[in-house]
Order: sequence, then C-alpha cells, then structure tokens
Amino acid sequence: MLTIALGAYETFPTDQYGKSAAGWRPGLTDHQVYESGRGRWKLGARANSERYALFTAKGIVVLAVEINSIGAPDADGRRTITGTVLQPGDPVYDKYVGEDPPVGRSQNPIQYIETPFDRTECACGCGNANPPGRTFVPGHDQKALHERVAKVGGVAAFLHWFDQTWTGEAVGATTTDGAE
Ligand SMILES: [Zn+2]
Repeated sequence: MLTIALGAYETFPTDQYGKSAAGWRPGLTDHQVYESGRGRWKLGARANSERYALFTAKGIVVLAVEINSIGAPDADGRRTITGTVLQPGDPVYDKYVGEDPPVGRSQNPIQYIETPFDRTECACGCGNANPPGRTFVPGHDQKALHERVAKVGGVAAFLHWFDQTWTGEAVGATTTDGAE
C-alpha cells in the first residue's frame, strides 16, 4: 500500500499539468482532497504494483483511494494517480480513514507499507494478480497441485512419494484460501 503525506493546503493558478491546488486543510470534500493530493509525485516502479493509496495529513489518514492507474512520468519525473475514492463500508476505508497513519513521520512524503489488502501474485507462479486477500487465482491452487500429482504418477504414487519424503515439518506459511 502506498501512503502519501500531504502538506498544508494551497491553491495556485492552474499549471501546465492542470493542477491548481495541493495539500490538505479541514473542510475539503473527498473529491477536493483527491484532486489536490493525487498529483505529481516521484513514484518509482514499486508504485505500479500497488492497489491502494492512503493520503495522510496532520497525523491522520484523510483519504483512501483504490488505484486504477498511475500516469507516465511528466518531464520532471513526477506522476499522477488515477483511482476511485473509497467510501465507508469499504474495508480499506474502514480500517484506515480517520485513524493514525500506519507509517511513522518521514522526510519523504511517499512511503510503502505491506498490508493484507495489497495486490499479490498467484502462488502458482503464473504471474497473474490475485483477488483481494487471496493467495491464488481461483482454481490455480487445485491445478498446480494436480499437475504435481500427475508428475509423480498419480495419487497413489504421490502419497507413497510424499510419505517417503516428508520430514514431518510444515514448509511455508499457512494461507487463508478456503479451497485448499
Ligand atoms: Zn496462478
């Protein structure tokens, strides 16, 4: 998850990027915070795989956005986020908005945190993005498992091989997927 710390609110004549405000102050609508906050940040490659952005100001999370895209860098390397402003009832909104920022203070307004809401890649190795909170693209856990069973020579051969091989200790983390 991407977090962006906003400074004090300021307005200015519309610039060449169509931007006429930056920062945050009390009383802004969500749309005003989105418009003043989404633009013109130095965002590296890591941002491309982020699913959500939180905007913080004065020690509080003031806006949560589900990222649809992050634009190509402007001439000065700065990029602008396009996304959907989240509302109460969305799990990310409910967890973060109005709460303390999930990051410490930093000189850099851009920080990244790992959360259960982040986009992850399917654990089968196909490279596709998982649905929120899942470890596999639906069906890929079964497919990956049965491909391995087939490689060993079928279920009976797999069980024999497994019992010969397993040391009795689990490997890797348990996951929350229900289909396992
Ligand atoms: Zn997969």
